[in-house]
Amino acid sequence: MTGAAAAECPTCDAALVRSGGAPPHDIDIAATTNALQERVAAGRMREVAGDVPLVDMLDLFAADTKYTIVSYLACSDCDRLLFWGLCIRGAPIFKHVDHALLPPGRGDMGPTSS
Ligand SMILES: [Zn+2]
Repeated sequence: MTGAAAAECPTCDAALVRSGGAPPHDIDIAATTNALQERVAAGRMREVAGDVPLVDMLDLFAADTKYTIVSYLACSDCDRLLFWGLCIRGAPIFKHVDHALLPPGRGDMGPTSS
């Protein structure tokens, strides 16, 4: 967020869907999650860590049993790491984070290729 020249990535930045609400509650959680799922399915992004697989995020969120649900996705387009977090009592978080912030050994979602 420094300078106006920051390039918008057509893959990960474009996955953010606004809801038209008042910030920070201006993110359409379902649409954004679906957009991310589409990118993962298309091989443009990769789930690297998270509380649950992306496809289960909305169900778990609706179940209201967990305070926060986070997912880390690597963008194969711009090579950045995206943090997508749902908070039951707060605003969702959609931001890019440093790869070093990836929690080690957390959210292993099964065997990884390569
Ligand atoms: Zn990207």
